[in-house]
Amino acid sequence: MKMIGLIGGMSWESSLEYYRLINEAVKERLGGLHSAKCVLYSVDFGDIEKMLAGGDWAGLEACLGEAGLSLKGSGADFLLICTNTMHKLAEKVEERAGIPLLHIADAAAAEIRAAGLKKVGLLGTKFTMEEAFYRKRLEERFGIEVLIPGAGDRDFINSVIFNELCLGVKNEASRARFREIIGNLVSGGAEGIVLGCTEIPLLVGQEDAKVPLFDTTKLHALAAVEFALK
Ligand code: GLU
Repeated sequence: MKMIGLIGGMSWESSLEYYRLINEAVKERLGGLHSAKCVLYSVDFGDIEKMLAGGDWAGLEACLGEAGLSLKGSGADFLLICTNTMHKLAEKVEERAGIPLLHIADAAAAEIRAAGLKKVGLLGTKFTMEEAFYRKRLEERFGIEVLIPGAGDRDFINSVIFNELCLGVKNEASRARFREIIGNLVSGGAEGIVLGCTEIPLLVGQEDAKVPLFDTTKLHALAAVEFALK
């Protein structure tokens, strides 16, 4: 089994899920007392969020690059960045660490393609929804068309992520609004919805949508286990 290197803490609420999902999947695959070989480098999300809000991508690159290098030094054979947003820096982190990185959007795309879908709605931070790094990857590498919510809804989702979910708060009123946003995307032609933020699955589940949901935390964790056991 390969050693999985996890760059986590963004937020730790979702890193916990990664740890659980990865270990459950290894147990299911290998049985008995088997569990995942992994190393976690968990950052201080307070510092990360300040850099993100201030647009300090050079600072974020230095921080996550250092994390990747440190995981390699601890024996990791490959890396996961346990957040969608920070995949804006995926290539740079991979280059700096010098070991392969499994991209979260690729894990989602594989499942979307397997389901035979061509057009999906994307929910995530404003960075993930609005910038090109995530959408373009789905569109150009996998031929998946991506719809995003309107500006007001994007602000709302971003605020729920940073002011509720990353703080461990689950609010039923927020969940109801997510349901509406998902419904609007489906009315606009989305055949599935990518939960493109690793905390959103803590609030929203398949019961909140009439189309398939793609939980990126789970899909990324399962892709890591496949790769580790290959
Ligand atoms: N975990 C979130 C994501 O998947 C947001 C936190 C962050 O900015 O990294 O994008």
